[in-house]
Amino acid sequence: MYAQVIVDVPTMQTNQPYTYEIPAALAELVQPGMRVVVPFGRGTRRVQGFVVGTTETTTTDAPLKSIDELIDVTPVLNHEMLALADWLAKSNFAFKISVLQAMLPNVMRAKYVKTVQLIDESAVADDAQLTAFFADRYEVPLDDDHVAPELLKSIQRLQRQGHVAINYYVGDKAKIKKVTALKPLMSSQAYDDARQKLNKVAKQQARLLTFLMTAPNEWIAQKQVLDATGIDYATLKKAESNGWIARQEIEQYRIPQLTSKIESTTPLPLTADQQAVFDQLKPSLQSKDHQTFLLEGVTGSGKTEIYLQDMAEVLAQGKTALMLVPEITLTPQMVRRVKSRFGESVAVLHSALSDGERYDEWRRIERGEAKVVVGARSAIFAPLDNLGLIILDEEHDASYKQEDNPRYHARDVAAWRAEYHGATLLLGSATPALESRARAQKGLYTLLRLPNRINQQPLPPVEVVDMRQAMKQGEDELFSHQLLEAIQQRLNRGEQSVLLLNRRGYANYVNCRDCGYTPTCINCDLALTMHKASHNMVCHYCGYQEPIPEQCPNCGSKRIRPFGAGTQKVETLLQQYFPQAKTLRMDLDTTRKKGATDQMLEAFGRHEADILLGTQMIAKGLDFPDVTLVGVLNADTTLALPDFRSAERTFQLLTQVSGRAGRDEKHGEVVVQTFNPEHYAIQFAKQHDYEGFYRYEMNLRKDWQYSPYFYTIQLKITHEQQNEAARVAYQIADWLKPHLDEQAVMLGPSMGSVARLNNKYVYRIIIKYKKSEHLFKALDELMQTGQQLQKQKVGLVIDRDPVNFV
Ligand code: ADP
Ligand code: ZN
Ligand code: ZN
Repeated sequence: MYAQVIVDVPTMQTNQPYTYEIPAALAELVQPGMRVVVPFGRGTRRVQGFVVGTTETTTTDAPLKSIDELIDVTPVLNHEMLALADWLAKSNFAFKISVLQAMLPNVMRAKYVKTVQLIDESAVADDAQLTAFFADRYEVPLDDDHVAPELLKSIQRLQRQGHVAINYYVGDKAKIKKVTALKPLMSSQAYDDARQKLNKVAKQQARLLTFLMTAPNEWIAQKQVLDATGIDYATLKKAESNGWIARQEIEQYRIPQLTSKIESTTPLPLTADQQAVFDQLKPSLQSKDHQTFLLEGVTGSGKTEIYLQDMAEVLAQGKTALMLVPEITLTPQMVRRVKSRFGESVAVLHSALSDGERYDEWRRIERGEAKVVVGARSAIFAPLDNLGLIILDEEHDASYKQEDNPRYHARDVAAWRAEYHGATLLLGSATPALESRARAQKGLYTLLRLPNRINQQPLPPVEVVDMRQAMKQGEDELFSHQLLEAIQQRLNRGEQSVLLLNRRGYANYVNCRDCGYTPTCINCDLALTMHKASHNMVCHYCGYQEPIPEQCPNCGSKRIRPFGAGTQKVETLLQQYFPQAKTLRMDLDTTRKKGATDQMLEAFGRHEADILLGTQMIAKGLDFPDVTLVGVLNADTTLALPDFRSAERTFQLLTQVSGRAGRDEKHGEVVVQTFNPEHYAIQFAKQHDYEGFYRYEMNLRKDWQYSPYFYTIQLKITHEQQNEAARVAYQIADWLKPHLDEQAVMLGPSMGSVARLNNKYVYRIIIKYKKSEHLFKALDELMQTGQQLQKQKVGLVIDRDPVNFV
């Protein structure tokens, strides 16, 4: 028997599996989806691999190595996951090993230990450095990065001479948490009899027997019994030897806990609007046909209640449900809502979990014990079987795109899985991605709408404050008098405010404080980015450059300069303006600790603070009745992103954050500060007019040939030396050109935004295209040569549908 194995060797990336012989001892055991340890290369190196197939025969004549060890008893990846990995690797120019690893919890990745084993002691006797290294040991762990170069050279020399051997060990970091537990072995009556026969002084034994008489016939944690009865350990040991109980170690799941108790809830009676939406979904939820729905519902329209009832519907049919939410920050409130409805059958997967918790949740899902999964992006790989429904809440959110190897978009993976299972895919948002809305227009998705808030609660009025005027009147760059007054009013009334400091993708853009002008590219209509080092403004899309302006080309003002302020600075300012107010600051720094987000939001929910100040992370999902003011300090940051989606991002962000105001009976108000009050993204957001924005933006995208009219591929070429990065970039561009269809457009190569990232120079090529067939073949070929590039220390990234051009 032979096994096809994808090996974990970063420097030899290929999507071609290697064939290994299956030794007789493992013949019956090896199955696709299991992890194995295999020898690799010429030396004694051993690596982890995934079995992706087995065959009776092989066509190669070359001598084959055989599998050393089997890591798993049962496959950790099923047929679906293996097929998904194939597709994902191919369609995203990713390496299969990284996809397979991304599908599993971190702890299941291989842990490698490399050691140096001393064979001939006399060979090191004269060398002080080597003697110190071995320090009377025969086998010493070797960490190449932390060993002095001369020492490493000596070790290599000794290896060549056969005096030392390098060994490789492949381990599994996964640890199961075990606790000692006991289980009653006798009937209630038998325990009672035993108790009658006891000596009167055996008080502890009597207490234990009384406990056992009413205990359930299952494993109970030992600690729990000790706590409940107050008996000592010796009594338990005696009970075991008497044959009263069984004792052994059992596995205990580490289930992530929220900071406060979860009350259970029942489905709300749906409003007429919600019912109409639900009725349209129901046939699909009950059938095995794959169908995609786009639920376009304003903030607070009751989308989440629909998600919950849809999940209940598929669960009732014995199927499972998967729900993605954008970021960890949204999870506490959302997790609470889902758990309160479905209790213990809910598993949660997001990056704030400890490795152990993540591993345990993964296994609860894999074993079929959890039927509902809520999680962030990578939860899309949750090993749920028999999926009936996949929900992407806030489906437009950019965090669904994974930017690191393997690059993928969770929405695409969701579509693939929904099709595989014949499941319903439900995309929900107040501000759908243009691509999704356009697909609904074409009839590829079914469009469902909830245009009103629950109970006809109005959307909050939005006041747009012109910061050019504020500046002329000598006001603060971050706090106009309108915003200050609005905050003061809330403080007087005992209501709460949410303030957003918009810092997404914080780019070095400049703008004119007098007229709001931001320099843009003449070719692309995108904001130019300031490169201080080279003293110019650069277009990240096509590479166009111009000098940094000393005065505004539009109005002549000298007050044209970079924009930026941190949350800490704003917090200090707030303290100066409102010394009596209590402010909570929520940003990456204050939420790093586990559970910090949850605690902060709960404290704010209990009204322990008057103002919640934060970055993008506060824009979504929060639902607090006392919040009646939302202030956006600087709406322009997203507008100035060097990205064709900058207007869309701005519209989305403003709409999301406005949605936080006045969700209860109290009416809300939104204040948006901007240097570009006429900008259509801001104007449509002011009107809460998604459909209007959609139509306007689609026209622009058509004119400028952007998505969804054209697809985009971004190639990034990196090297430590600038001229080398440039040379390879031009070489690749020249090689690719003949493979492009007539409609396709190539931009660049141009220098990357941050000229040097991690000490590497970045060059990028952007290709806009309509048909992918020829292009993808060429890119695939290019990727296969990646190994050769790697030898030249050139990095190559092929990014399909990039969401980030910074
Ligand atoms: P969305 O997800 O669209 O922002 P939510 O589902 O959070 O909206 O609903 C907004 C508010 O309305 C929540 O407080 C929710 O509990 C409440 N709600 C939703 N559906 C109903 C309903 N059918 N009856 C009463 N209240 C509802
Ligand atoms: Zn100006
Ligand atoms: Zn340009």
